[in-house]
Amino acid sequence: MNIFILTSGKYGSRIVNNIAQRGFASSIVGIHEVPEDLPEFIDDVSSYIPDNLPNADLILSLGLYGDINMIIPAVASNTGAKSIIVPIHDPKQIPLGLQREIESEIGSAKIVFPKPFCSLEPVGDKYIDKFAEYFGKPELKIEFNDLIKHVEVKRGAPCGSTWFVAEKLENVPVGEAEFEAGGKYHNYPCLASMSVDPQVGDTILHLAGYKIKEAVKKELGFAAKSAVVDEETCEGGDNCDHICYDVCPNVKIGDETVKIKGNEKAEIDAQSCGCCEICIQKCPFGAIEIEDKVNIKKSE
Ligand code: SF4
Ligand code: SF4
Repeated sequence: MNIFILTSGKYGSRIVNNIAQRGFASSIVGIHEVPEDLPEFIDDVSSYIPDNLPNADLILSLGLYGDINMIIPAVASNTGAKSIIVPIHDPKQIPLGLQREIESEIGSAKIVFPKPFCSLEPVGDKYIDKFAEYFGKPELKIEFNDLIKHVEVKRGAPCGSTWFVAEKLENVPVGEAEFEAGGKYHNYPCLASMSVDPQVGDTILHLAGYKIKEAVKKELGFAAKSAVVDEETCEGGDNCDHICYDVCPNVKIGDETVKIKGNEKAEIDAQSCGCCEICIQKCPFGAIEIEDKVNIKKSE
C-alpha cells in the first residue's frame, strides 16, 4: 500500500513519526508539509496543490485547517488514490459544510473523517481498512491476574498514545487499570482539542479518552464505572423522545453506546460509556445513574 501524506503542524508530524516508526516507513511515498499560518478562507487553493505527486493508494490529510483542505480532491486525483482519511481533532478544523464540499469533489473515491483519529474502524474500503488493521480505535490483548501482567497493542491510536499507555499499565491493579489508562493518555499528551465540539456535545479529547478506556474494559470484562439505566424508572418513548440516545457523544460519532430496546426502554453499553453524565442530566425521569463495577455484556 502506497500512502501519500498531507500534514500540518505538531499534530500531523507526531502521526507521521508514529506510523513510520511502526513499520509503515516504506509505505509512505511522499509527504507534503502545509504551512500552519495560512488564512482560514482561501478563494482559490489551486496554487497550493503540490507538483510532481507520486502514485498512491491512500491519502492521509493530517491537521490542515479551513479552506486549504480543498486541495484534497486534487491531490487524490493526481495521485490516483481512491481512499482518503481526514481525521478531525479540533472542532474548528473542517466544518461540516466543508466536509460535504470535499466529498462532492472526490468522485468515486472513499473518504472518511474519523473524529478523533483513534475512533477509526474498518469501513469496507480496501486501503482504509488495511490502514485500520494497525491504526485507529485501540484494541488490546491484556494478560492479568490481580495485576496487569502484559499488554499487547493489536491496534493503536495513530498518534502513538496506545503504545505509551500499554507500557504504563503493566503491574497496575486490575481495578485501577481503566482510570490509569485514562490518566496516562492525558500525560502522553493527546493533542485533540479541549473545546466542546458542537456536533458532539463533548470535547474530542474526551472522546479519545473513552476509546482507550473502552479497549481496557473490553479485555477486563468490566467497567469500573458506567452510566446504567434503571429499567423500572425509564419511561422511554414519546414521554422523553429517547433524549439519552440523542445526546450521547459516542452515539453521535457512530458508536452503539445507547440502544433503544424493543420495549422502548434505553440500555447503555458499559464497555463504551465514557461516564460523561450528559444523559443523566438530560433524562427527564432521572432513570440513569452512575454505578461502580458494571459487568460488560458480550454482544449477542
Ligand atoms: S433513560 Fe430517560 S431519556 Fe433515556 S429512554 Fe429512558 S426515560 Fe427516556
Ligand atoms: S454517560 Fe451517557 S451520554 Fe455519556 S457516554 Fe455514557 S451513555 Fe453516553
